[in-house]
This record gives sequence, structure tokens and C-alpha cells, in this order.
Amino acid sequence: MTISTNCILCKHNSLHLFHQDKNRKYYRCDHCKLVQVPKIYHLSLEEEKKRYDLHENNIDDPLYRNFLSKLSSQLLPLLPQSAVGFDFGCGPSPALADIFNRAGFEMDIFDAFYYPDKLYLTKKYSFITSTEVVEHLANPGKEIEKLWDLLLPQGYLAIMTGMVINKARFENWSYIRDLTHICFFSLETFNWLTHHLEAELVLSTQNIVILQKPDQ
Ligand SMILES: [Zn+2]
Repeated sequence: MTISTNCILCKHNSLHLFHQDKNRKYYRCDHCKLVQVPKIYHLSLEEEKKRYDLHENNIDDPLYRNFLSKLSSQLLPLLPQSAVGFDFGCGPSPALADIFNRAGFEMDIFDAFYYPDKLYLTKKYSFITSTEVVEHLANPGKEIEKLWDLLLPQGYLAIMTGMVINKARFENWSYIRDLTHICFFSLETFNWLTHHLEAELVLSTQNIVILQKPDQ
């Protein structure tokens, strides 16, 4: 079977083999540096859902809320009063939306498996969050551009995902053993994305970036 050599994020024809383990091959794009797993290794939707059902994140689980608060604690101080937000890919337990609700912000949610109502496509938001989602996307370029279009001017897009540090760390990274993870961002990738979207990179940490949309 032939492997597409076009990057799933930037669409450039510049993929090269980056790593291989007993399960899969991993290609890296020379242009945007996204590491990606070819489609032949992607799970079916049924297999994927089965794995998410095992995640058992409870909305009140303090460990899970603490994990998500790493993002909310960075984003909350930036938000204007009465900002309305949207959490893309909330999973079975929309704990992040609950955190923002309790901080006084209205929030819509969507999850392809658990909350599939697409009403959000008709709305505009002051902020959009997506935690532990982009690494599951087969077409992250299209999905992120769609989210970007839903943002109001000066709105924030906050993304949390495990990030590639270097090849040695990648090879021993437990994150790549999860077969639902099919693409791996790095700070370099987010720098490319910032430029591509004509955004401002407001914050970047080990696993969180916040991009701001310019005034129009
Ligand atoms: Zn690329």
C-alpha cells in the first residue's frame, strides 16, 4: 500500500520517516514538523470509541479537574466578562466546561462520540478550548481552521496536547503507545500554525498553547 506523502496539517509534500516501533510508523513533516501516523494504522471509529469508553474520567474527579485546570488557570485571567466559550472534544465527562461555568462563563460543548450536536457551527465564541483532542485528529489542519473561523476577533484558542521534544524522548514516550494518538505536535508546529493563522502566540508551555485572533 502506498503512503500519502502529503502532511495532514500543512498539506506540503514533505514527509519523512521519523520513527518506527512494533505497532506503527511515524512520519515527520519537514515544513510544519508535525509527526503523524499514516492512515493504514488508524483505528476504526468503533475501536476508537471502545478505547475512549475505558477512559472513565469523572466530571468530579479531582485529579482530572486538576489536570484540566492547568489550561483553565492560564486562560481565565485573559477572558473579558461575559465571554462565551466552546469546548471542542469534551469527551464523556465535560469537566472543563464545568470549571468555566463555575467561574461564571457560559460554555457550549461538542464531542464527536458523546455530544454530537453541531449547533456550535452556527455560533461565534470569545474562547475555544480543546484538551487532549488534536492528537486524535486525522485532519487537524481542517479541524483547527474550522475552530479558528468560529472565534470572534481577539478571541482565544487554547489547546492542550502532549508535545514532541526530540527524537530520543519521542522513542520512549508512553504517549505514542496510545493507538488513538495519530499526530504529535511540537512547539515548532505551533509556531508554524501561529504564522499560518496570522495569530498571536499568547502563551506556550510544555503541553499548552494559547493563540489569539487579531482584531479585524
Ligand atoms: Zn506539515
